[in-house]
Amino acid sequence: MITQARAALVALLATVLATVVAAVLVAPAASSAPAPGGPGIGDDYFPIDGNRGIDVRRYAVHDRYRFGSGELSGRTRLTVVATRDLSSFHLDFLLPVREVRVDGERARVSRPRRHELRIVPDEPLTDGQRFTVWVSYSGRPGRYSYAGESNWLADDHEVVAMNQPHMAPWWFPSNDHPSDKARMDISITVPRGKTVLANGSPVNRERRGRLTTHHWRADEPMATYLAMFAAGPFHVVRRQVGDLPVRLAVSKRLSGSRYRASLRMLRRTPALLRELQQDLGAYPFSAAGGLVTSLPVGFALENQTIPTYFWVGGGNWDWLVVHEQAHQWFGDSVAIERWSDIWLNEGPATFMEVRHRELNRDLDPGAWLQRQWERRGPRSGFWKVEIADPGASRIFAGAVYYRGGMTLQALRNRIGDDEFWTLLRQWVSEHENGTATTAEFEQMAEDVSDEDLDGFFDAWIHSRTRPERTVENGLVVP
Ligand SMILES: [Zn+2]
Repeated sequence: MITQARAALVALLATVLATVVAAVLVAPAASSAPAPGGPGIGDDYFPIDGNRGIDVRRYAVHDRYRFGSGELSGRTRLTVVATRDLSSFHLDFLLPVREVRVDGERARVSRPRRHELRIVPDEPLTDGQRFTVWVSYSGRPGRYSYAGESNWLADDHEVVAMNQPHMAPWWFPSNDHPSDKARMDISITVPRGKTVLANGSPVNRERRGRLTTHHWRADEPMATYLAMFAAGPFHVVRRQVGDLPVRLAVSKRLSGSRYRASLRMLRRTPALLRELQQDLGAYPFSAAGGLVTSLPVGFALENQTIPTYFWVGGGNWDWLVVHEQAHQWFGDSVAIERWSDIWLNEGPATFMEVRHRELNRDLDPGAWLQRQWERRGPRSGFWKVEIADPGASRIFAGAVYYRGGMTLQALRNRIGDDEFWTLLRQWVSEHENGTATTAEFEQMAEDVSDEDLDGFFDAWIHSRTRPERTVENGLVVP
């Protein structure tokens, strides 16, 4: 994710610097009598996110959206495996529910709190049992908020479901936590003439009267916050990177200069994907793309296979595309197991921005690291954020991004270029389409470099002070 305010600052600094300083640059429960699953997958930052006792394998979302009234109605089928004996289980969802069926049988459903559906199946479920859940619902997502977020983004012409760390509960019932990835089928019904985009690739389109249903499918599993759909008057450009289809969409509601600048930004996607593949290995999914909405979104987000951007004006926005596309490897393919590990997403995405400038001979990454360190004195609040555990209210703090990016450049200084790139490629290939933790990253860095890096990681990601300028911390290159 990148906030628009940060983007404006970066764009300004980039323009100034490019000319002036171009050269410087849940533990599994024991099986016993069926017990309630209950809310909360066990994330300290968001205690009722996700749910205990279930593992969702696939979502098939069928939503109809009515522009004007803002009503969303639909039904979602979840394919689920019980991870313990269950007398009941929870799903995360905000809209009013009409009916829930478990393996075809009507289930009792209650709402202990707005975000939680408590579902009691006719028969208890046993550990390892695969079952399907149908939930049908109807409501106005714009009316609901959760964890201080009112995420519904729509007007009478355009709608885009996107946000982080939460979005799914506004448009489909889910086990809403990145540690439970699942495959997605997304079918969206809107008036004829609207274009729909979602994760993955389009499967088919069915017209019925004045409505059209658009079915999209993502072949690789994803975290629920990375699922998205958009409907509106979009212009779609199709490109190809090798065998990889790339769909680029921009809202036709943008004025001439914004439309042109946004399309220009998106059209850089294939070249920037090729550049990222050079460093990181093959792009991790079977489809790629990007979308620019006319809605006042305020941030860009790495929705899986289709990052979504705010509209832009003039200037060079390669860094933003690089950031969101780098997330396809870091954050999307390799997802985090808990929100406290968010630096594993934002650190590498920020570092790859710096790498892009290095490849364009626009910035020396070693000099960049020194300058970032010097700019912020030891008393700066920047260093008071412990990025491997920033706190729920600071998961998008600047330090999570920049200290995270600096950590990677410092690690590169410390262990050397060859081993550093081996580490990044091994990280994204070993955890491809999975989840991972900070401890696993530290371990892999030690294994690849054959060095003890405890002191290094303590200084960079586990402390609330500025790392000392030492060889060990990668701030002095011997
Ligand atoms: Zn990001």
